[in-house]
Amino acid sequence: MGHIPDLSYTYDSILYPRTMGVSGVIHLFGTPKAHSDPYLLEIYEKGKDGGDGFYYSQSGAVFENEFWPESERERILANPRYVVGWVDCKEGGKPECDSPICFEREDGTPRHAKLTPMGRQVILGAFIIEGGLFFNKHHIRRMFDWPEEWPTANWLGDDLMWLEPVPGRMYAGAWDLGGNKLRDKNRRKRGSDATVGIVIDYSTRPWRIARFDYIRGGDADWEQKYAVMQEVYNKYQLPYTCIDATGQQDSVSEALEKRGLEVESIYFGGASSKKIDMLRNLQVVTEFEYPEDNGAVTKGLLRSPPLPILKQELERYALPDENIQQDCIMALAMVVYDISQYELPEAVGGDVW
Ligand SMILES: [Zn+2]
Repeated sequence: MGHIPDLSYTYDSILYPRTMGVSGVIHLFGTPKAHSDPYLLEIYEKGKDGGDGFYYSQSGAVFENEFWPESERERILANPRYVVGWVDCKEGGKPECDSPICFEREDGTPRHAKLTPMGRQVILGAFIIEGGLFFNKHHIRRMFDWPEEWPTANWLGDDLMWLEPVPGRMYAGAWDLGGNKLRDKNRRKRGSDATVGIVIDYSTRPWRIARFDYIRGGDADWEQKYAVMQEVYNKYQLPYTCIDATGQQDSVSEALEKRGLEVESIYFGGASSKKIDMLRNLQVVTEFEYPEDNGAVTKGLLRSPPLPILKQELERYALPDENIQQDCIMALAMVVYDISQYELPEAVGGDVW
């Protein structure tokens, strides 16, 4: 199989439909690439040890291939880009030790190969994005690097910032609702989850965050949250409000619709790759560079006022993300994805990057 730049799209549009009507199982073999496919890491994580039933995944080292001659193994192990040294095996070698990189060396001592990150990827099939940071620090910094561009911003501590809406400009907004999501089950104490709302002015490039609401868990009941969402919706004349509806009862969108809001519910759960698609889109928006009319190159499609909570979440986000604070990131990812659907040309904003 060749290199697939976007497995998520290939899977949903080509591979999965092949099973329709005939059922069956899709087998994927390969070595994960360094940074290209968080989607593959997600489905790998889902399928580990039998996983969620829809996916099954198993890791393996190239040395498990019994058809490899010893000379080939030694050739790979001699590559300094993969192996930087050897450490003695604490178990005394096989059969007690089941490490795939444990070998008896020339002097008869069992040792483990010390692998570089690339070595872990190539030899063990490890995901080296795992534990690595998802957003590039340089790109995050330049997103916040314009404090002088927000002279008219209104602030209430770090939890609320807004620019008065300007008639004729276009705004989009999304909310990540705390307190009732499945993914929080084992994460933190109940009720400690924040509700985050973000509105972006995308009338001109770069897009700008025009409103930021961070409602700490326990700071507001549902009626109060609905009231804030309604206020933001009316004030910025949003065409609709995106909400993270994963694991929620329909009561949230019903309550908002009763208040006159148009609601776009987004579901991240199950076999869907929606969350990863949105995160990748946010990643690309922060990296994106484009020429202006005067020939200058503008770096980054999104600018934010100095919002320490948002900045910190972006700096710390990594996959897998079960134990990582991500309320701001998901609100931001939703609204940026929503804008990308119709603001960017297809070559950039579509499913294939
Ligand atoms: Zn060993």
